[in-house]
This record gives sequence, C-alpha cells and structure tokens, in this order.
Amino acid sequence: MVKIIASLSALAVAALAGSVSDFPKEIADLMDPTADPCTDFYQYACGGWYKNAVIPADRSTTDTSFTVIGDKNDKIIRDILSANNPKLTEYYNSCKDEAALTAIGVTPIADDLKNIRSANSTNSILEVAADLAKKNVPAFTQPYVYADKKDATTNVLYAFQAQLTLDQEYYTDSGTWNYLKPLYEQYIVTLLMLGGNKSEADARKAAKLIMDFELQFAGVQLSKLEAMEAEVSSYNPMSYADANQKYPLSIGIQLKQFGFNIHEGCMDNTNKIILQDLSLFDRIEKLVAAQSVEDLKTIVEFKLLNAYSTSLTPALATANWKLFGKVINGQKAEPSREKRCSDDIQTMLGELVGDYFVKASFDSTSAKRADEMVLALEASFKQGIQNATWLDTETRKNGLTKLSKFVHLIGSPENPQTYPTLSLDAKDYVGNRNKINSQDTANNLALIGTKVDRHKWSSPASEVNAWYSPRLNSITFPAAILQIPFFNGKFEPAQNFGAIGMVIGHEITHGFDNSGRNYDGDGNLNPWWSDETALEFNKKAQCIVDQYSGFDVISELTGQSLGHVNGRLTLGETIADNGGLKTAFRAYQNYIQSNPTKFTQETGDKVFFLSFAQGWCSKNTDKYLQRILLDVHPPGKYRVYGAVQNNDAFAAAFKCPANSNMNPSKKCYLWE
Ligand SMILES: [Zn+2]
Repeated sequence: MVKIIASLSALAVAALAGSVSDFPKEIADLMDPTADPCTDFYQYACGGWYKNAVIPADRSTTDTSFTVIGDKNDKIIRDILSANNPKLTEYYNSCKDEAALTAIGVTPIADDLKNIRSANSTNSILEVAADLAKKNVPAFTQPYVYADKKDATTNVLYAFQAQLTLDQEYYTDSGTWNYLKPLYEQYIVTLLMLGGNKSEADARKAAKLIMDFELQFAGVQLSKLEAMEAEVSSYNPMSYADANQKYPLSIGIQLKQFGFNIHEGCMDNTNKIILQDLSLFDRIEKLVAAQSVEDLKTIVEFKLLNAYSTSLTPALATANWKLFGKVINGQKAEPSREKRCSDDIQTMLGELVGDYFVKASFDSTSAKRADEMVLALEASFKQGIQNATWLDTETRKNGLTKLSKFVHLIGSPENPQTYPTLSLDAKDYVGNRNKINSQDTANNLALIGTKVDRHKWSSPASEVNAWYSPRLNSITFPAAILQIPFFNGKFEPAQNFGAIGMVIGHEITHGFDNSGRNYDGDGNLNPWWSDETALEFNKKAQCIVDQYSGFDVISELTGQSLGHVNGRLTLGETIADNGGLKTAFRAYQNYIQSNPTKFTQETGDKVFFLSFAQGWCSKNTDKYLQRILLDVHPPGKYRVYGAVQNNDAFAAAFKCPANSNMNPSKKCYLWE
C-alpha cells in the first residue's frame, strides 16, 4: 500500500514537472523526477546521480562538475607530465622518486635545521625565521606585494599574519580542539622524531609547547570574518623605520632580512609597508616577545618540518596525510604518489603546466564563445543596476562606471610565468621547491613601486575555478572551467547560461557584494555609495545573512545536524550566487530573443535552472561538510536552495505554490 501511494505521488509530481523527457539526456540522467522541485529542488536536480555516487577512498567529497572536470584535467596533465617537457619532467621526477627521498631523509633541510638550532638570541632565531619566509615558510608574519588599496595603479608592500598549521577555528572552537588535540599532538611528535631526530619524551614536551603557542597565536589572529572586514576598513601605511620601531620582532627583522633599509624614514610608493590592522600586529609582537629563545627555536623548527613534511620522506608525507587527509578531511586512503606530485606541480609550476594544458585542451572558438557570454552577462548586470529602484541616481551612475571598467580574462594568462632562467634537477625535489619559492618571492618583491598589471592571474589555467579580483577589478575564467558540464559549444543556450552563465554572473556580482562594493572601477578603496543607498544595501544583505543562517547542514550519513551555515561569513558568496543566477537568467532571456533554441519557453526555463543546480550536486563526508562550514562558500546543496528561494523566475518556471519550500513568501533581492 505504501508503495502504491508513493508511486502514485511520484507520477503526479512527474506530470506536474511536465517535461522530463524533453530535457537533454545528460540532465535527465542526474535527476530524481520523483522528487517535487518545489519542495526540494536539489533532490529533483541531483537525486538520480546522488543515489549511486561513490566518494573515492582518497577523497572526502565528489560531485558532478568540479570533480568530473578535475579528473579529466588530471589525465591531460598526466600526459603532459609523462612527455619530455623541460622543467616539468625534472620537477615531476624529483617528486615521484620515493626511493631517493627515503635514502636522503631530512638532508635537504639539514642546513635550515642547523641554523635554527645554533641560534642563540631572539634576534638570531627571528633572522632564521625571516630567511625561511623567503622560501615560503613564514613563521609569524609574511610580506607580500600587491596593488595599493588607495592607489590601485601601483604595487606596494603589505604585511600579513602568517597562517597557522590548522585552520584557526580548530583551535578556537573548544569542542573541535578537544577532539583534535591528541591527534595533532601525535602528528607533531611524529614530525619531531622522524624529522627532528628527537626522543619521544623530548618530542612530547616540545609538542605541548608548540600547541600552547599556537593556541595563543590563534587567539590573537583575526578571524576570517574580521580579516575580511579589516580588508575594507583598515589602511595603515608606515615607513620602514616606523614599522621597525613599532614592531621590531615581527616586522623589523623580516624587513632587514629581505633587504629593506629599516632606517628609511621617508614614505613613498617604494618605501612603505601597509598593515591591515594595527591591533593585530600589536598582539603578534607582544606574543613573540614573550617567548624564550629556546621556545622560539622549537616553534620555528616545527614550522619548518610541517612545511616540508610532504616533500621529504614518504613516512613524513604519510604522517601529514594521516592528520590532514584522514582526520581532518575524512579520506579513507592515501592518494597515490603520482596524484600528489601532479597536484603539487600544479601549485608550484601552475602557469607553466597551464600553458601546456591550454595548448592541449582549449581552442580559440571556445574562447570566443566564452567571451561573448561574458559580454552578455555584463550587459544583463547593467540592466540589473539600471532597474534597481533602491539605488539613487548618483550611486547607480557610479555602479555603471565600475561595471564598464571590468577587465575579463579568459582561458590562460597572456604572459605565463615559465621560469626561463631556472634549472631544475630530477634528483632534488626540495631544492627544486626552494628555487621556485625563492624566485617567486624575489619576483614579487621586485614589483614594489611598479605599475599594477590588471591582467595578472592569481591561479593557473588548469584550475577548475573562476574569480573576481577587487583591486584589479577583473574577472577570470580559466580554460579548465570552460568545459562540460559548465560550458560546451554544442549545448543549448539554456544549459550554457544556467551553468557557466551563472558562474560568470557570480563573479561579476562579486564586484558589487558586501566587500567588492567598497572598491571603485579602478580598484581603489573608494566609497561610491550615498549613505542612504548604503543603508539600503545593508538591509538587503541582512536579509540574505538571516536566510542562510537558517540553513541547518545535515550529515549525509546520520541525518544529524552538523551546524548552521554562517550567514555573515558566507555573505559575499551568497550575494554573488543570488545576483549571478538572476543575471544569467535575464541574459538567457535576452539571448533567445534573437537566437535559435529547440526548447519551448517552459522547457528552456526549466533546463536553465536544472543546469545551474547540477553544477552543485555533491556527495560529502561529514568531515568535509564540517570543514566547508568554516569556509566562505556554503555547501553546494544550500547554495542551490538559497538562490532559487529568492528567485521569482524559478518559482514561475516550476509553478511552485506560494510558501512551498523553494518559493517562500519572504524573498531577499540582492542583486536584481
Ligand atoms: Zn565567489
């Protein structure tokens, strides 16, 4: 009896949905047509796929888009790596040679260990730490050169807080910390014994000290949310002399080791350092000053071992995986060495790999189509600004000016970093990494005072991602994301606009989210909003904060709550999702007015929303969901729910009754 009722209701729903058989096969295959799209659109769009999806043992999540493209790209990259391509071959072979790495043990970092252990004063250990920062192993703070927030045409020096070993929230959330503490302690002990040659008793003593320090450091750091807020509210330029005087330990010694004149008292573009938040550096300085020389040596030694744990012996790499892969990410099996090395080379030599990748997998027709779509989405966002009745005339004009100054970057960088002068060695993995990191640091520092290149990429062309850079006012779509299921030249317009169109709209909207809206079209931190309209924006944003904060993220294994989405932390992303979906839908409607489509209006609209949702179908371990709850992006399912709930066109397309789950009467409209 239960079965008959279930079947009947399934039939009724399918009849209501109308046209599953009209949908392209690749869409229908993922769907659960027995689900009601107005009750649970994610289940309707993804349920068929979800039922049979399996998370590979060496991963903590799988999905219908990013993972699929990532796997396809991995194959292309493996081919590139197995061909004889200069630099890539040497690097890849040096990474893969586990026998050689086992044989040499920690010899590749022996000099660094010796320098740390022979330091005999606070200054000397901090000098060693600063030298390690040049190799991308920062201990407490990290210098970086980027566009000046108040004059985005010029590159200037900034100081940032260094990252902790674990995410900050793992230390500050007492429940998580209590769970992780013994496992993290074991990791530190293993590294200090295997890499630092300590006895177990000494390693345990050191581990307690390191954890105690890191707990305090986590306490003084800015949270993700505070850092995001400081990004648009704090601007503290200082001369090198002033920075050295105020923060001699945390900044001064680093400036000196990096070759800056710490007595330079005048301040211009080539002689200044910008600090985001002075109270942060006050706290870091105080904390570093409170440590004894011996304690600082222990802390820096662990920083070193942790940073190199995946580049030395396989035993150290496994210790790293046991904590970060297994415990923190919930993976069941360690990734193969080939996979590790392929991932690593994309991080270390990303633009060089990307250059080969684009030649192998991207053509000028795709680039042209993608460019047309970006222009269509920009035109649609322009309509959105023009139609937004809550904007006053001046703010609207400023918004349109900002939009007109967007730079779009598609496919791959025009001038990729290929390290022409670097020679790599197939037998020296750590040496190769050090050479690349040192070169990157030197190249970055050489930018001080130079003109900002608005066409610069921050990730390689082989990364399945897209991004907006507020200070460059640029949107970037690497070749890797311009593929099925996001984009294909043979797709129906409804599919392309729903999938990649929404991604493009998302990135455009980032220029106008709670953070991006503080920057003008030239990338300067320069308020262009009237007070009343800014207030209106905040009200609309609060609506989205409240809506997403209401999402209870449920374990896919136990059905138990894992915690709520952090509506404030995710606000930039959720504004971008909402604006992106609306912008893409309008662009799609504009497009089909003068271009052919084989769909009826109703089927096309449905395919549009299904193509959007199917970009976000995922199956996740609890560990993965717990991690993503600390991220600025909500889990995929809730991104789908949130965006369609606020979308009138969605409710119309699926004829969702008022106050159904996916069509609540209270809607948040930002952007239009
Ligand atoms: Zn985003």
